[in-house]
Amino acid sequence: MKSLKMALIVQKFGGTSVGSVERIRAVAERVTASHRTGHQVVVVVSAMSGETDRLLQLARALADAPAERELDTLLSTGEQVTIALLSMALESIGQPAISFTGGQVAIMTDSAHTRARIEHIDDHKIRAALDAGKIVVVAGFQGVDPHGNITTLGRGGSDTTAVALAAALHADECDIFTDVDGIYTTDPRVESRARRLDRITFEEMLEMASLGAKVLQTRSVEFAMKYHVPVRVLSSFQDGPGTLVTNEENSVEAPRVSGIAFSRNEAKITVVGVPDHPGIAYAILGPISAANINVDVILQNVSEAGKTDFTFTVERNDFAKTQGILQGVARELGAEDVRGDTHIVKVSVVGVGMRSHAGIAATMFETLARENINIQMISTSEIKISVVIEEKYLELAVRALHAAFALDGEVPA
Ligand code: ADP
Ligand code: ASP
Ligand code: MG
Repeated sequence: MKSLKMALIVQKFGGTSVGSVERIRAVAERVTASHRTGHQVVVVVSAMSGETDRLLQLARALADAPAERELDTLLSTGEQVTIALLSMALESIGQPAISFTGGQVAIMTDSAHTRARIEHIDDHKIRAALDAGKIVVVAGFQGVDPHGNITTLGRGGSDTTAVALAAALHADECDIFTDVDGIYTTDPRVESRARRLDRITFEEMLEMASLGAKVLQTRSVEFAMKYHVPVRVLSSFQDGPGTLVTNEENSVEAPRVSGIAFSRNEAKITVVGVPDHPGIAYAILGPISAANINVDVILQNVSEAGKTDFTFTVERNDFAKTQGILQGVARELGAEDVRGDTHIVKVSVVGVGMRSHAGIAATMFETLARENINIQMISTSEIKISVVIEEKYLELAVRALHAAFALDGEVPA
């Protein structure tokens, strides 16, 4: 029975939540209050807001393509600053605490620098410190590979550190404190009528995150789903129930669409006039995938006079690299041209209720047509429909779809 034993909770605070000494002091007070109610507390912190970007700029000022191993060594320092400061803040209010970097814990990852995956966490040091009555402060976003190299987990990776620690420690709760008071029907910064959800399923949150909703890193949701870690997203600035990410409940009828996600991190490439014969898709996409570039939406036109156009999207920061690779490929294939467009975005509607409701796609396309927004590409799965559109229509599309699927709440005063 859980009530008989002390609960172990993991609390993660993002960049804005530790963005100044005042904020760090407020975090120290909050986690101390949790500890005083009798819980064991592990705190995961991000770098102070803007710090990771600042470090990236320093690197880029010195090298066009900095070595990824060195980038990780650099970027991991942001979180090392906040763990030390938070531990000091805790000690200064009389709360025993100890900080650990990812390497010190040890959070073991593979060697994929800048996007490493956590493979194993040794919980010995954390348990010993908790049992000694301390609050344990762990650096988010970082780990160490089998050769002792510092690795990082990709942007937003502190969420994954928190959920992975909660799984490894069999924590009773994993709270993600951020600058919004929960997960909304869409990014509240784009649509002020967005509504906070009380709950969302792992599956829907996984789609929302992978389609661009950065409130949780995609991998953190994968971890939570796999190891059944209930995750709550809350505001670090105000009290409230937040949003619980959890398993689907059959009793409640799922709404048709539960959220709208979008991503600006998109670019489109078209190989024009390729001879249409078997093996074309492989010839074009093989070298892209060999370069570790993710291809997302793909479209091949019907052929005319034995030739076709082949279009696909990649992340915007992979655009230049992709174009470089394709110049050679296009020549070999006898294609007429390679065209690129970085002014596109992807907007998606997500909901497990789609499985049992027809007509979502029709409503989506009708809504965009009414706003005169041209759909360039479409991709669907069981619980989402995504469209690629021109970037300048992003806000309009999100708001129109939010209203069309009856997600609008009250406009805040
Ligand atoms: P942190 O630094 O705490 O990790 P992030 O900036 O990574 O915070 O994530 C929180 C941000 O996610 C919010 O400020 C909000 O703009 C954005 N966001 C995008 N989609 C959503 C959504 N559906 N619900 C809530 N926030 C969202
Ligand atoms: N500091 C890292 C970033 O800005 C990790 C995180 O905040 O989760 O991406
Ligand atoms: Mg984040």
